[in-house]
Amino acid sequence: MVLRKLLLLALLSSKSVLFSQTVVSNPSKSDFSPTLSFLASDWMQGRGTTQKGAFMASEYIASMMGLYQLAPYDTVSGYYQNFKIAEHTVKKVTLEIKKGAKETFSLSPETDFQVNPTAQSIQKEAQVVFAGYGLSLPKEKYDDYKNQNVKDKIVIVLRGFPGHQDSTTVSYQKFKKYYPDTDNLDEIKLQTVINKGAIALIFVDGKNDIKFKNKKGDSIFHSLENPTLSSIPVFKISKSAADILFTSNSISLESIEKKAAQKLTVASAPLKNTKINFSVDLQSKIFAVRNVIGMIPGKDSSKTIIVGAHYDHLGIKNDSIFNGADDNASGTSGMLALAKKWSESNLKPEYNILFAAWTAEEMGLLGSEYFVQNLNLQDQKILLCINMDMISRSAPEDKKYRFLSIGTEKETEYLKKIVSESNAKLQNPFTLDLWETNGHSGSDYASFTAKGIPVLTFFSGFHEDYHTPGDVASKVDLDKIQDVLFIINHSLLKFIEKSAKPNENKP
Ligand SMILES: [Zn+2]
Repeated sequence: MVLRKLLLLALLSSKSVLFSQTVVSNPSKSDFSPTLSFLASDWMQGRGTTQKGAFMASEYIASMMGLYQLAPYDTVSGYYQNFKIAEHTVKKVTLEIKKGAKETFSLSPETDFQVNPTAQSIQKEAQVVFAGYGLSLPKEKYDDYKNQNVKDKIVIVLRGFPGHQDSTTVSYQKFKKYYPDTDNLDEIKLQTVINKGAIALIFVDGKNDIKFKNKKGDSIFHSLENPTLSSIPVFKISKSAADILFTSNSISLESIEKKAAQKLTVASAPLKNTKINFSVDLQSKIFAVRNVIGMIPGKDSSKTIIVGAHYDHLGIKNDSIFNGADDNASGTSGMLALAKKWSESNLKPEYNILFAAWTAEEMGLLGSEYFVQNLNLQDQKILLCINMDMISRSAPEDKKYRFLSIGTEKETEYLKKIVSESNAKLQNPFTLDLWETNGHSGSDYASFTAKGIPVLTFFSGFHEDYHTPGDVASKVDLDKIQDVLFIINHSLLKFIEKSAKPNENKP
């Protein structure tokens, strides 16, 4: 009997090896290459979200989901998640500084200021509060908002942090460790003033003048038809515009920056006798758009893993087709190839696996944002979102074409471990760039991290054809896609295997 038991155990364990490695076979080139070529062909007209191309592409993706017998996401609309977006054209923007009752300075939008508007026309006038760097750091007992009430006011802040221009200062050493990545500082400051009830935020650069880009087409932007995230207009003003604001209040930005760098002094104060009047006049047009979503139902239907990629690209601009082969016919065809393999395996996975093609990513992640906003996260737990955006090319400095960038959030070490182990199984493993997505918003993963959902986002490198008509199917690296999909498939199986084991540390 002992012998039989042992044999049985041996059989069981070999079966589990079998499970993780062969139960869902890895996509090969014939699974994704034709799809990629078709989505990136001129027939698809560059898949511009509000253009004909995206609708044709979505029909094709839905057809393939039907062929693979995925369950439609919606009982009424099938594979389509229909929604509306708004295209806003900025007709006119104004910014006026009012000193006392008599003096008014009208700033020029070409040379003095830039605005990042919200999705509605707006006209407001309010008092102005200068809030230093706009930072609150209780751990260091530093607070630019101490004793300042900014509710219903316009807040003006410096860019960067105390000492940011001089790495030898005490302030720099202190702040750099909290803000190693200064890219997302502006966003942190914006969220802070929104929470404090301000009606607009103005950035000023103490030393370097802000570069104004007035490229054609900058005056058009997009949003969901009914955006739910609260937002306020954000302005950037020139040094000369800042001088008008500050000189009569006897404030010198240069000396403020110097003192902050050396002594960490807080210089926040309301600007006396100063009001700002601003307006943004928009003309908005509504468009119907759609995500395409199919599913393999799992044993535990309350938990879901998402495998997604955006299918939209830039469409036709100035009579040129932007085919978007790498961006992101590559990710979309990868998603469909994985759907095909998982469907063919006839495996009933532990959790639902949802295969999604997002739209309107190029307009600001709108498709994934809409999806996430309409999720009922109480009834449906999203364990993981795998995102593929540009997985078929290599950066010029990557001479061997073997770099792969994979983003995860802080404190999801188990995901880094899973992808590293999967990569090591490749015959010719990639050199991985494992980075943290916190504070970044370069692709649809950001819609999920905003809701605290763990992500794995795959990207194979920036190249000279990025967002140009040169991003065509003949230039994609099919071997690279195949290996990226191997890592994703392997990681997916590992992730499920680990999450489903009750005794192991659950992700
Ligand atoms: Zn993209």
